[in-house]
Amino acid sequence: MNQIGVHALVWVGGWSEEECRQAIENSKTAGFDLIEIPVLDPATIDIDMTRQVLQSVGLKAGCSLGLSFETDISSADPAVVAGGDRLLHEALDVARGIGAEYLGGVIYSALGKYSHMPTPEGRANCVNVLRDLAREAAQDGITLGLETVNRYESNLLNTAAQTLELIEDINEDNVVVHLDTYHMNIEEANFRIPVMACGDRLGYVHIGESHRGYLGTGTVDFADLFNALATINYQGTITFESFSSAVVAPNLSTTLAIWRNLWSDGMDLARHARQFIDEGLQKSSRSLAEANP
Ligand code: MN
Repeated sequence: MNQIGVHALVWVGGWSEEECRQAIENSKTAGFDLIEIPVLDPATIDIDMTRQVLQSVGLKAGCSLGLSFETDISSADPAVVAGGDRLLHEALDVARGIGAEYLGGVIYSALGKYSHMPTPEGRANCVNVLRDLAREAAQDGITLGLETVNRYESNLLNTAAQTLELIEDINEDNVVVHLDTYHMNIEEANFRIPVMACGDRLGYVHIGESHRGYLGTGTVDFADLFNALATINYQGTITFESFSSAVVAPNLSTTLAIWRNLWSDGMDLARHARQFIDEGLQKSSRSLAEANP
C-alpha cells in the first residue's frame, strides 16, 4: 500500500507552533498518512515541537527543499558548494530529528532559472556531495529523493533519464528518483515512459495538476500515470502538491511563480485530492488485473 501524503503549503506558509499543529491536524483530518514539510530554512523548524505534534496526531512526515544559487552544490565554486553541503546536512538533521524517512526535492542544484548550461565540474561536485549525504542519511534509514523538475527550475535534472544517470553516478542504494506530474507534463513525452524507465528506482511521486490547482481540472493524464505506477507495482509515497496565492511561504511561493489564486479552501482541495488519488490507484489496479487475468 502506498503512503499518501500532502504538501504543507496546502495549509500553511510558515512553521510556527500554531501553523505546525494546524497543518498536521488538517492533513490527518483530510485522510492523509504523511505531511511533506518544506525545510528550505532548516533553522526555522522547531524539531522537538514538530516531532511531538506528529506523534500526538499520529502522522508521518517527509522533508523537502530546493537549494538557492548561494547554496548550489552543482556550482563550480567550492565556497558555494560548501554552503550547500552545510545546508543539506542541516536539513538532514531536521529530517532525522522529526522522524522523517525521506529528504528530497531540488537538493542537487539551485531551485530557479539558470542562465547557463550545467558544467562537468559542477555536476561532479553535486555527485560528491550527494554521495556523502546519502551515506550519512542511510545510517538513520533516510532516503534521498532527486526531484526531476522543469527547465525553468533547474538546468541539471529535467527528465527521468537524466536523474537515473546522476543516481547511477552517485551509486548509493538510498538515492531515488522523485517524479512530479506537473514537471513531467512540461518535459516528458508522456507519463508512462519515465515511470517504466525508473522502475525500482522510483521512490517518491508528487501528484500535481498542470496549473498546480485542483486535480483533474488541467491537462495532466493521470490515468496514464496511475497505470504506469500499477505496472511497476509502485509501493512508495505519493504526495499531493498544490499551490495558490491563498497560502504564501516567503521565498518558496515566489520561486515557484505562484502568482494566481487557484483555490482558497485547502481542506476542500485536499479532500478532493485524497479521493482523486484513491480512485486513480483503484482504477489502475483493476485494469491491470483485467489485462493479466
Ligand atoms: Mn514537486
